Formats: sequence, C-alpha cells, structure tokens
Amino acid sequence: MLQVQQLVKYFGGVHAVDGVSFDVAAGECVALIGPNGAGKSTCFACIAGQYPLTGGHILWNGRALEKLAPAARLQHGVARTFQVAQVFEALTVLQNVQLTIQASRAHQAISAFKRLDGQSREAASALLQETGLTDVANEDVLRLPYGAKKRLELAMALAASPKLLLLDEPAAGLGEAERASLMQLVKKLAGQGMAVLYTEHNMDAVAGVADRVLVLIEGQLAAQGSFEEISRDATVRRLYLGESLDDQPVEGAAHA
Ligand code: ADP
Ligand code: MG
Repeated sequence: MLQVQQLVKYFGGVHAVDGVSFDVAAGECVALIGPNGAGKSTCFACIAGQYPLTGGHILWNGRALEKLAPAARLQHGVARTFQVAQVFEALTVLQNVQLTIQASRAHQAISAFKRLDGQSREAASALLQETGLTDVANEDVLRLPYGAKKRLELAMALAASPKLLLLDEPAAGLGEAERASLMQLVKKLAGQGMAVLYTEHNMDAVAGVADRVLVLIEGQLAAQGSFEEISRDATVRRLYLGESLDDQPVEGAAHA
C-alpha cells in the first residue's frame, strides 16, 4: 500500500503541495482531481522521485521511498507516466516496449541497449495485446495517432511490471469514446491487483472508474470519497466542479 503522509513540496515561495495525506491500497483505483496548478503533477513527481520533498513521508509497503532515486523506486514497483507522452519517435511501437522491458530487466538506462532480443519481443507483444496496440505494433511512433501514443505510454509503464501505477492525465486530449475505453483498461489493471493513482480533468473518466476520489485544491486535499460524495461537497463544487457541471450551475462559481 502507498501511504502519503503530510507531503509538502515548495518551489521557492510557491506552495505547490502543502500537507497532503492519503493512502492507496493494492487493487484500488484512485483519482486525484483538481484545477490546473493544484499540485497534482507535483504529487506524482514526489511519489515517483523526480523531486525531493520539502517535508513529509512517502511509504510503499512500509518502506520509506523519499531517499530512493526514481530507478530504485521502479525496482520496488513504482512506475509513472507523464502529462506529456514520452516515447521514442524514431522506433516502432513494438521496439519502444521491447526497449523498456530490456532496460527494466537489466536495471539499466534505455540508452545502454544497442540490440533488441527475442525474449523482450514476446513479452512486448503480450503487452501490446493487453493495451490494444497489436494492429499498430510495427508502425513508427512518429506516424502514430495521438490516442495510440497515449496507450503506448501506458504499455511502457507496464513494461516494468509495476505494483503501483501513477498515471498523469492518461486520457488527456482523447475523444470521449477513446477516453472511455482507455479508462476501462486502467480500471482493469487495478482489478488485477495493482494500486492505481491517476489524474484527470474529464469527470466521465472519474465517475464509474475511480473507487475513490481525492480533490486537491491549492496544494491541499479539499475532500475525498466516492465520486458521488465529492460531487455533493459544497467546497468542491464552489472551487472546482461548479466549473465543469454546466447542467447544474452553482451559485457563486460562474464568475470564479
Ligand atoms: P497540476 O498538475 O495540478 O496542474 P502542478 O503540480 O503542475 O499542478 O503545479 C502546482 C504548482 O507548482 C503551480 O503553481 C506550478 O506553477 C508550480 N510548479 C510546478 N512545477 C514547478 C517547478 N518545477 N518549478 C516551479 N514551480 C513549479
Ligand atoms: Mg499536471
């Protein structure tokens, strides 16, 4: 289980994350939502190890992660994706996943690999099957439609066989149908026993997908609970959801 305890991250005078605590258990699918600039990506970077913490603790299965480098966290099963897809455009879809699998097996940087092996090819093909990318396996990533690129990013995160999957806007920029099918895949991964934490702006990717929702506003948790519970929360509606629930305008939110 992931335990985030009183997480604080300041960038100079910017209090990006300001005392946030929550848990994510194995098999749970948890959404971290909130307005732009609320501190969601910063939380992910602190958990995955891109940023040192200003304060607080991050425990994964009882082990403190905060002193470990991202690669060491990955070895403990913590993998993340980025808000902007990070893939190798000069390679095919299959090659991207093969390379990631080989690097994670050898605990080495991807740049250390000059040759792709048959073993990684088999494992990569299985991952492409799971993420719905088999048909485009041999396409160059450069020519890939955006939706397939987002799936590839997920496949690459899965290449390390993570136990905790951090997905920063996994469905960003996708149309409604593509978003729904990607989120079903994300939900399925949690159902298989992974702990999943993801961020998302579209409420259709939260309702019916997340087991639990955390609402981050100005670096602090404003509410948490089921989607129905946080949708009814007056503070959340005033400061965040009022903007997106067009059919139910909330007094005071229209000019926020
Ligand atoms: P979100 O992902 O919820 O949109 P972020 O975590 O990206 O929010 O940003 C939270 C706050 O921290 C914002 O005010 C942002 O400008 C600031 N911030 C994020 N990353 C950095 C950084 N590397 N240096 C300085 N300020 C940053
Ligand atoms: Mg972000």
